Amino acid sequence: MQAGALTRIGGEYADRERERRFRTGRLHETLRHARLLFMLSFVLNGFFLISDWRFEGTPHFWVAVPARFAVIALALVCVFLIGRARDFIAAERVMALWMWVNAAAVALLVSSQSDIAFFVVMMLPAIYWLAVPTSFTVAAASGIGCSAMMLLGYLLPDPNHPTAVGFIMAMVMYNAMLWMVQQRYNRLVRVEAYTNERLTRSTEALETVFMASPVPMVVNSRRDGHLMYVNQLARRFFGADSPLGMKSLQHLFVNPADREAVLRKVAETGSVHSHELQIRDPKGKIRDVLISTIGVDVGDEPAWMTGVIDITHMKAVEANLAKLARTDTLTGLANRSHFFDAAEAAVTAAQADGSPLGVMMIDLDHFKRVNDSHGHDAGDRALKLIADQLRATLPPETAIARLGGEEFAALLPGLSGGRLSAEAEALRKAIESCEATGVAEGVCFTCSIGLSELRAGESTVEAALSRADRALYTAKRGGRNCVRSAEPAGIADTAA
Ligand code: GH3
Ligand code: MG
Ligand code: MG
Repeated sequence: MQAGALTRIGGEYADRERERRFRTGRLHETLRHARLLFMLSFVLNGFFLISDWRFEGTPHFWVAVPARFAVIALALVCVFLIGRARDFIAAERVMALWMWVNAAAVALLVSSQSDIAFFVVMMLPAIYWLAVPTSFTVAAASGIGCSAMMLLGYLLPDPNHPTAVGFIMAMVMYNAMLWMVQQRYNRLVRVEAYTNERLTRSTEALETVFMASPVPMVVNSRRDGHLMYVNQLARRFFGADSPLGMKSLQHLFVNPADREAVLRKVAETGSVHSHELQIRDPKGKIRDVLISTIGVDVGDEPAWMTGVIDITHMKAVEANLAKLARTDTLTGLANRSHFFDAAEAAVTAAQADGSPLGVMMIDLDHFKRVNDSHGHDAGDRALKLIADQLRATLPPETAIARLGGEEFAALLPGLSGGRLSAEAEALRKAIESCEATGVAEGVCFTCSIGLSELRAGESTVEAALSRADRALYTAKRGGRNCVRSAEPAGIADTAA
């Protein structure tokens, strides 16, 4: 059975549970309607009581007046009872009581066969069929029963009424017509209710999906940018309740040019996919995000639907990995591959402004002995200490790297000749005199240094590095703990 299927005869829901829910949902309206009906009955019959006095002095007077009083009293009792009804079944019982007792009393009243009695005979079944908010079964039974009682009341005093048969036939047709009206009304309100229910449910389903989406999502107007919908994650992410407010997304962009770029792209192509930019979170912290936006029409309002993926953590991991890839883990200095990248930039800069570029190769003397005498860990600590010395002694703009083992290289922009030698000598002395207390008891270091300079016409640092390496060997052969330069005249080699 289809969920919204209707009964053929009454036009009510075939599914009893659905019908029960339908009636319960309208109970308040039903009670209000029934109360109004009983009160009207009370008031109108009060007026009719006055008109009943025209029968004074006739036998009908003693039928009409008690019957009228009964109708009035019944209306009052029903006003009271309907006030106590808590569900549809109880309400329907009160309405059925009113209809049947009322019909019996009115049947007596119409026995006067007056014009007004004829009018009431035709009117009361219509009220029962259409104006009393009961189920179809009760409406039909009461409407038909009332018609029969009205006919009896009207025709019994004169069974040979000339139009009795026609009158009965007319009443049958009249009831058939009332049944059709009632059935049509029942069908229309239920079809509409069922359609609304399905619409509401699909709207709720969409809203649930949107609100529970695992990605922060917002929908804002294309006309003025105001926010139309914000899902739970977006609310948390953007801090809808924060002082930043959530009127629009404009103020969230760290760089206004990013917003312009997104707007330009969506204007051109209708959407943006995974556009990386930075926004400010409710605490004012800058976050890296990927934004995807697509144009949608929400009813009459053209809008942008935007999904935001926070990649701040991913970017931090990425940056850390990139740093690790560039860094020597033991000393924190640049590693070999990063040194050559830095060298390329330093060479380009030196060539651009014609400034010198000094190259330094540093190798610790007899380092093997440190390992052999104090252990590998002490050797590691020593290497860290030396790295600190390099950083502390050489000029801040120097690119320093550990090329491998206990061998270091340095690029010194703007330094050549005597100034380069002086820096190297200062370094040699600093290492010679550094206190290696944290490394091992009684240990001390010296280093040998080879120097060279980038020469005119050299576009890479390779050749200068080889020359510095050769100078370093010269320093080793020359007794260690000294500085030797690969450059010709004018450069004073130093020694301890
Ligand atoms: P010299 O350079 O003065 O000729 O003598 P040396 O003893 O330094 O000789 P060499 O360059 O041949 O030896 C380098 C030693 O450095 C070898 C190894 O024991 C040590 N070494 C290399 N890398 C590491 C390291 O990462 N940690 C430690 N603890 N030792 C290292
Ligand atoms: Mg060595
Ligand atoms: Mg070595």
